[in-house]
Amino acid sequence: MMHDNPRARVLRSKKNFEEHDKTVKSALEIFEPESILEASRSDGDLAGMTLLIKDNIVQRGRTASCSSKILEHYKAVYDATAITRLKNQGALLMGRANCDEFAMGSSTETSAFQLTANPWDTSCVPGGSSGGSIAAVAAGFVDCALGSETGGSVRQPAAFCGIVGLKPTYGRVSRYGLIAYGSSLDQIGIASKTVRDNARVLKVIAGLDPLDATTSTNPVPDYEQKLDGAIPQGLRIGVIDNAMNAEGNDPEMVVALNQALKRYEELGAKIVHLSLPTMDLGAAVYFIVSRAEATSNLARFDGIRYGSRPADAEDLTDVYRKTRTEGFGPEVKRRIMIGNYVLSSGYADQYYKKAKAVQHGMRLEFLKAFEQVDVLFAPVAPTGAFKFHSFDENRLLMDLQDYFTAPANLAGIPALAIPCGFVKNMPVGFQLMGADFTEDILYQVAYAYESSTTWHTMWPKGFGPK
Ligand code: GLN
Repeated sequence: MMHDNPRARVLRSKKNFEEHDKTVKSALEIFEPESILEASRSDGDLAGMTLLIKDNIVQRGRTASCSSKILEHYKAVYDATAITRLKNQGALLMGRANCDEFAMGSSTETSAFQLTANPWDTSCVPGGSSGGSIAAVAAGFVDCALGSETGGSVRQPAAFCGIVGLKPTYGRVSRYGLIAYGSSLDQIGIASKTVRDNARVLKVIAGLDPLDATTSTNPVPDYEQKLDGAIPQGLRIGVIDNAMNAEGNDPEMVVALNQALKRYEELGAKIVHLSLPTMDLGAAVYFIVSRAEATSNLARFDGIRYGSRPADAEDLTDVYRKTRTEGFGPEVKRRIMIGNYVLSSGYADQYYKKAKAVQHGMRLEFLKAFEQVDVLFAPVAPTGAFKFHSFDENRLLMDLQDYFTAPANLAGIPALAIPCGFVKNMPVGFQLMGADFTEDILYQVAYAYESSTTWHTMWPKGFGPK
């Protein structure tokens, strides 16, 4: 994408936000133009590219609320490593994106502050938890956005809003400055309209970081290099049959996915059918592991270390109780309770340890599949975007949104969601998963599909870049 000078770019983007985000409500805050320009270098690989940042990634001097009351007034005192790297390459960080509270949810409805709408149909959710980041890109307010992925929070909303969403290999992108939810699963993810923009951003934010010991020493390639529209010679795509045929999948969506596969065949790929039985355990394992880790990560929000302290507390216990009672929303409280339960003595063996064992088995099953095929193909979610409040009466059913996405987080492998058309007037997408550190191949394969289709040129009615 060509960019004009940074100041003009910021002003136009801000104007577009002000005019159109009233209906989408993707942003919690759009910064003052001068402060945006001051924060970044004026040149670099991403000069002039605008981004919105999920509100669980810290930006120095800015609020970082995680869309939670408990951090409503918290101002970050440092930049996340990904933020530092974006600023050093001239990216323009426009503001903070709404999300599910502490990234817990699949619809962005658990935010303490506002509901974000899907720009393709504002009576539908954008997906979650990175719904604000994704909706802003889909509406053309910004070129790209950062979200976070613990169990699918970038890919699922990307599919719901018809854009590209990456969950990198665990350790590919530094988590320094990403407020933790499930540390063994968390990765910063990238949302973009096109595969190329996604690849450009990953190249900047990926790589070893002395501030995060889980980052990998694996060298960062130039992800744009292989984007020539061709797929790798002899590419084998493994279709996960048990995912494609899973109960509850919208049959029309499956038709759209099969058309994408046909396109890959025309491009020269060899389609292999296989099944990954442990994939069907992903949502259940994720449910336990993520809650367990959330419980320990969220212990720091106690009114002493972090979190707004109540004025009327009587003693220390009362500080803890009031801070957490008033500060956390219902979904976060539910998860903390479940996390404590699955970790408590007597139950840890039955739940947490068993879940960890299955998680290990899942990774082995994926690794075995990659001996047979180069990439795996699956749905991102069972359907397209749903209406607000669809799952108010059944929270557990909402958790099935993670069915196809959580396995990649649990296995630590990279996965990329790519739009492949519309069903009932709403976008749908497929996902490609690869072996560790094969983001370059995922991008190449996705780009070949993207170049042979026009989905990435379409914008929701009334929206688009300005
Ligand atoms: N939907 C999942 C959850 O509610 C995913 C969240 C995420 O990836 N941050 O936990």
